[in-house]
Amino acid sequence: MTQEAQKVLIADDDGINRQVLATLLKPDHVVLLAKSGEQAIERAQRHLPDLIMLDVMLPDMDGYEVLRRLRAAPATAHIEVIFITGMGRPEDEARGLMLGAADYITKPFNSTVVMARVTTHLQVVRQRRMLEHLAHMDGLTELANRRRFDEAYAKEWQRATRHRHTLSVALLDIDAFKQYNDHYGHPAGDRALRAVARVARNAMRRPSDVAARYGGEELVVLMPETDAAQAMYVAEGIRETVAQLLIPHEYSSASPVLTVSIGGATLPPGGDESAAALFEAVDDALYRAKEAGRNRVNWRM
Ligand code: GH3
Ligand code: MG
Ligand code: MG
Repeated sequence: MTQEAQKVLIADDDGINRQVLATLLKPDHVVLLAKSGEQAIERAQRHLPDLIMLDVMLPDMDGYEVLRRLRAAPATAHIEVIFITGMGRPEDEARGLMLGAADYITKPFNSTVVMARVTTHLQVVRQRRMLEHLAHMDGLTELANRRRFDEAYAKEWQRATRHRHTLSVALLDIDAFKQYNDHYGHPAGDRALRAVARVARNAMRRPSDVAARYGGEELVVLMPETDAAQAMYVAEGIRETVAQLLIPHEYSSASPVLTVSIGGATLPPGGDESAAALFEAVDDALYRAKEAGRNRVNWRM
């Protein structure tokens, strides 16, 4: 992952404090500023900072209320917050920490200490992001992994049925891949699988589309709000592009080059098929594509 600068939102109604903190943080971070609780919440939602330095005493609402509202919204619920306050009483500090603040700094503060604490918290954020990323990625293909697909599929199926959207799913399986491994070796098989994965990833057109490794040499493609005609077009594009990689496969019954078979199905608007039944239909469509001779797309109609 790229080491891009992390975003810190400073929410303080005192201009001098904002200035001091911004000057400290600006060399290494992207700094955002807010003068009130409302502004802090709005900027947090819009920019999703990695860390918020939050003054407890704000003109419109106190920092505890800001934190409570941030925690109540899924997008901002996990943002780290450091309270900065003139209230140095232990019960104030305890209240802030109990509400889920990462840290509590009292004014007047020492710049070196503030910087050290900010750096520590931002490192934790960076490490957590990295772990989340790795937990959802397949190491060989660098596609989303099965866990990530299962989550996305459950979520998109619910969204589709609730809003009466279409949802298309395609399952892709490399043809005669056992033969490929047997004759060209497992490392060559891994390279071929990575090349096919790249084709699937490049075929994704929207942020909500997911290409994942379903297992072994099977990849799955999830296309929310995509009807059957559009999804079949994407699937056919993947099939054709894989064939055009011209990876020699002398031992395939389907073609002299490496190919894939793809099965798919689409949940129509207002469809009430269960997520499991839809996926079974996809699996069945793939089975039929194999039976019909491989190197083809078959869609459940
Ligand atoms: P079909 O055309 O019916 O799909 O035949 P196939 O040989 O591809 O099907 P089968 O399911 O019998 O074999 C799949 C093979 O894929 C077996 C397994 O060794 C190979 N495979 C699965 N995962 C990997 C992997 O990560 N790397 C490599 N190199 N091979 C893999
Ligand atoms: Mg297979
Ligand atoms: Mg196969």
